Amino acid sequence: MAKAKEQQPNLFGPEPPPWEEDDAAEQWLATVVVVDGPPQPLTYLVPDALREQVTPGVRVRAPLGTRQITGYCVAVETQPAGAKREFRLRPLAAVIDAEPLLNRRLLALTQWMSEYYLCGWADAIEAAVPKGVRVQAGTRAATFLSVPESTRRRWEELKLSPKQRHALQVLADAPYPLTPVELAERAGCSSAPIQTLRKQKLVSEEVRRVYQGAERQLEAETGPRQAGEQLNSAQRAALDTILAGIAAGRATTTLMHGVTGSGKTEVYIRAIEEVIQHGKQAIVLVPEISLTPQTRHRFRSRFDRVAVLHSHLSGPERFWHWQRIASGEVQVVVGARSAVFAPTKRLGLIVLDEEHDSSFKQDTPAPRYHAREVAMWRARDEQAALVLGSATPSLESWQRAASGHYRLVSMPDRVLNLPMPDVGVIDLRDRDEGRSRGAIGRVLQRSMEQALRDEGQVILLLNRRGYSTSIQCTACGETVTCPDCDISLTHHLEERKARCHYCDFERDPPMTCPACGFAGIRYSGLGTQKLELEVRGKFPGHTCLRMDSDTMRKHGSHEEALAKFREGQAQILLGTQMIAKGLDFPNVTLVGVINADTALHFPDFRAAERTFQLVTQVAGRTGRGAKGGRVLVQTFSPDHPAIMAAQRHDYEAFVRYELPQRRQFGYPPFSAMARLIVRGPSETHTSEFAAAIAERLRACETQGVETRVLGPAAAPLPKLQGRYRFHILVTCADRSLLRQIVSSAHELPLPKDVQFAIDIDPLSML
Ligand code: ADP
Ligand code: ZN
Repeated sequence: MAKAKEQQPNLFGPEPPPWEEDDAAEQWLATVVVVDGPPQPLTYLVPDALREQVTPGVRVRAPLGTRQITGYCVAVETQPAGAKREFRLRPLAAVIDAEPLLNRRLLALTQWMSEYYLCGWADAIEAAVPKGVRVQAGTRAATFLSVPESTRRRWEELKLSPKQRHALQVLADAPYPLTPVELAERAGCSSAPIQTLRKQKLVSEEVRRVYQGAERQLEAETGPRQAGEQLNSAQRAALDTILAGIAAGRATTTLMHGVTGSGKTEVYIRAIEEVIQHGKQAIVLVPEISLTPQTRHRFRSRFDRVAVLHSHLSGPERFWHWQRIASGEVQVVVGARSAVFAPTKRLGLIVLDEEHDSSFKQDTPAPRYHAREVAMWRARDEQAALVLGSATPSLESWQRAASGHYRLVSMPDRVLNLPMPDVGVIDLRDRDEGRSRGAIGRVLQRSMEQALRDEGQVILLLNRRGYSTSIQCTACGETVTCPDCDISLTHHLEERKARCHYCDFERDPPMTCPACGFAGIRYSGLGTQKLELEVRGKFPGHTCLRMDSDTMRKHGSHEEALAKFREGQAQILLGTQMIAKGLDFPNVTLVGVINADTALHFPDFRAAERTFQLVTQVAGRTGRGAKGGRVLVQTFSPDHPAIMAAQRHDYEAFVRYELPQRRQFGYPPFSAMARLIVRGPSETHTSEFAAAIAERLRACETQGVETRVLGPAAAPLPKLQGRYRFHILVTCADRSLLRQIVSSAHELPLPKDVQFAIDIDPLSML
């Protein structure tokens, strides 16, 4: 233990011990929470030998039944030695970490999460502390070589072979010490000449612990400082509101409603500059897909010490960042959802950019937390400011602003008086449009031709990947589905496979109907692969890039594709919603939405909101340069209020349509909602247990408070990976009552082959 302590830097500075003096008349007790163990905290005796080391936030080993478990110590307390207990306490076996993995504030945060999301405390801790940090990954000892003054002084006299001399020269020229391997690489030699230099003591050696790879990479990414733009009046007003919140030293939340291209990021950056001036740090959360080199560069060019946390970091890199953040060295943390747990020393500001984005909500594993709620808790806890920015705020946030819980600032215009793009709606019910061959109608095709002639670029959005999205027999009606998920298989032409989009099951595409043997099986429905072929056929003189999760499997391919498009190597970019977000390409003069209805008829009360957001966001990708821009939306529902509002860039019109409906049906934001998902391999066991839960929940309904328990019903995805799925929706005007009702489900004995999950504030209804 002592050895480990020496090697590990102190993560959080000295912590005061939770007790004042050693008193033999007292017993020391540790409260421990366990992953995959009993949901309630366990109490253990702290043996005298471990007293020094047991502190909240460290992992411990302890006996449970006949096994040894690993748990997190969350509290240490003392009690008089003679105190009576119902049962005999067992002693802790060992302490794993020399320093707490998370500080007291984060520990309290995870406790709150376990209460709010009805999950295990240990699960919440594991969501907050990345695995690389938990295992303190990737530190190793390495030898670093440099050229000492003594060698430099007698440079000319040294008797060296040409290879040795070259290696020595390379080392002397390097801006920092190199490992023998790095030196061999740079000098283009084997290890032999370097070994000789070491033996002759011509180079000095130093052993350091390093985090593999992380440091150099970051060094390469820091760029020259750049100055910001002169803020326009709307930006100034938004900034003033946020700064007033920061100056007040209270936790304040500001909802910044700014159209695409209104200069929101510039305002975030100014607000961050302010909190840094006060010696505090800021966290900026963006959707994972927006963590592009462009975004990184934007922050790195404005601040000295930025940590970018993205999902492709290795364990060691994560640990390295975590320590820099905990030490207070980092000024700004930029990252996706889980960066909300960054262990900043003095948090001054949290920004959620694109706050409506569903990637801020974790789906699996539990806890199914939303970064916005976690950010709000942290901001309150540390008296920090919270800024939520979006062109299409979630109705939850909008309603909280309307009821005075948030301050609202609006930026209704684009910077530099750039106009919003003109949005045209194309009615696919129109015969001429409907009859045109393929997915691209006549109007859209003509506009694409025009845009390309004028040397502009085109973005096409289609929210379905694959080639054909359904395979059906025209004789018996059989649809080819996944045997485990009961979902239509999608035909992927490139790989010549029919694939399930939920579990990745694949088979050869059938030539005849698997049910009746009929040879006229039909492949229909449109996916991005088919669209790509159509585009290549219709625009043979132009280069087309496709972006969807099939083409973007490899790390870095996303960035590569965007770089190509930015440089104009491709003129047409088509893809799923991953192209709708945040991209800023001034030369894009046309955006086409192939079918705006794909999300509109989902069995989800947020279907209209999603459609409005998607169309508005993708429309925002054009008209960002001097050439202006235009949007064409193909739809079968041109009269739908969500589409009409998106056409006019009128968020408030959408809100005026949507909010009354939510109110009428008692959906969020007018109620708190929970969803219970019950699943298991046996359809009867699963549905019976779901029915038992629903009955139990109904029994808890309280008079006077409006509560609704809907279901159980088969989930819209009724079978996934071989397990049947049923769900129950609960809405209640009172959030704490909702939790009380929902947690009563835990009181039912769980059949062996059935599992259930609780989703508080669910975003996915599938
Ligand atoms: P948003 O985040 O609202 O989409 P950005 O902050 O990305 O908008 O701004 C869009 C573009 O306008 C960026 O290229 C940015 O550098 C530029 N910009 C921002 N504020 C100003 C300003 N006040 N004057 C001129 N250009 C600006
Ligand atoms: Zn499947």
